[in-house]
Amino acid sequence: MSGKGARVPRTVIVVGAGIVGLSTAWYLQRYGVGVTVVERDTVSSGSSWGNAGWIAPGLTIPLNEPAVFGHGLRALLDPNAALSIPPTTDTGLLGFLGAFALNSRRSTWERALNGNTPLSSVSLDAFTELVEAGVGMQDGPKTEEAPITALFTSEKRAAHLLMELDQMRATGLPLSYSALDRNTVREQSPFISGAVRAGVRIDGQRYVNPGLFTHALADHVRGRGGSIIENFRVTGVEAHGNGLRLRSAHGESQSADAVVFATGAWLGRQGRPWGVTVPLRAGRGYSFTSPTTGSVPGPLYLPEARVACTPLAEGLRVAGTMEFRDIEAPLYQARIDSIATSAAPYLTGVDLDRRTDEWVGSRPVTADGLPLIGATRIPGLYVAGGHGMWGFTQGPATGRLLARAVATGDTPASMRPFDPLR
Ligand SMILES: Cc1cc2nc3c(=O)[nH]c(=O)nc-3n(C[C@H](O)[C@H](O)[C@H](O)COP(=O)(O)OP(=O)(O)OC[C@H]3O[C@@H](n4cnc5c(N)ncnc54)[C@H](O)[C@@H]3O)c2cc1C
Repeated sequence: MSGKGARVPRTVIVVGAGIVGLSTAWYLQRYGVGVTVVERDTVSSGSSWGNAGWIAPGLTIPLNEPAVFGHGLRALLDPNAALSIPPTTDTGLLGFLGAFALNSRRSTWERALNGNTPLSSVSLDAFTELVEAGVGMQDGPKTEEAPITALFTSEKRAAHLLMELDQMRATGLPLSYSALDRNTVREQSPFISGAVRAGVRIDGQRYVNPGLFTHALADHVRGRGGSIIENFRVTGVEAHGNGLRLRSAHGESQSADAVVFATGAWLGRQGRPWGVTVPLRAGRGYSFTSPTTGSVPGPLYLPEARVACTPLAEGLRVAGTMEFRDIEAPLYQARIDSIATSAAPYLTGVDLDRRTDEWVGSRPVTADGLPLIGATRIPGLYVAGGHGMWGFTQGPATGRLLARAVATGDTPASMRPFDPLR
């Protein structure tokens, strides 16, 4: 299948220096395309900075599960819930929630699951390709291979995750996992408390400090001749000769044969004039880092609390919450406190009262659980984003897929579910 009247560009501007934009730039360079990355703030200042850093294709379960929406309705009444939807009159948010509800049916969830599998299946491979090319080598962050251990206070809830993993595997995703009972789960890590009664071990996953990895990727893009312009907030796009010209908030301009918007949660405000109408909102999440009594052997997942814990050099990064608030809203301290409170029963040897690097970031969540990757109705203008909970995992694979489409005009069938004009 060929791209929609795509021209093969010699120069491309990528808007957004997160994991998706920088991966796209890196892979475009492989085709000999000259790349410029423009970024409104600094490299990795969006959600690619403080996320949990899991490279976990085995857990890329789409968010629009029927159970999540039911949970969301209950969350409206509970300010400490892992899912937070503040009372709102924002019609954009209400429209998004309505579309999300419509997509939270079994059939639409399964469509998202099946659509995501080809991308998730090659996610580890794309990271391997970046690392083998030297991203994060020398003193940079290393991607670590380790199982992710999910912890539960009831066996029934563990059974639910096992059922979802069975469904993921049935879509063709290579996946190895096992149920753990009360005794075997405690053997996985000395940081698991006595309150944990069951677990699930998902093998073959990886993790890394995501912000440092994204910076290492930016260094690599520069090292291969690309330029990265920070503090360049794109405010307009217009036709320019056979290509496109971008204008910034400060009145500068940049032009190229083609442009890729990889602007994460901001994409929801930008895409409509280009025919990208799938609702996309910021699903804000929080994280912080706490000291531990020793080295934590691998990531711990607390599905009941919707919290992810990742061992980093500085301590244990604890991340969670899905808050549908404005992307520019401040960090709400109460959300950090409630993550610590909800994680505490599962952990031992982690001082959750001592916290550094408190952070809020915005997951780009689409209403149908599928990312937006491909051409828009403006010739030469592409988008890449909307990966929700799993954009770090799927970022490099997305960059590889889209770079091929942009640089060769060839759009593989596996990209069809991600069509931004769907
Ligand atoms: C708490 C939390 C934990 C998470 N944990 C994981 C995890 O363990 N594994 C995983 O796979 N995913 C995880 N995620 C999701 C992941 O962080 C995101 O899906 C991913 O980082 C999205 O990357 P991106 O490049 O699309 O967006 P971003 O990293 O947000 O990058 C977009 C960039 O575009 C820039 N930009 C926006 N508008 C403009 C403009 N007009 N002009 C110029 N630049 C612009 C922004 O400044 C930003 O730097 C987590 C998210 C959160 C919040």
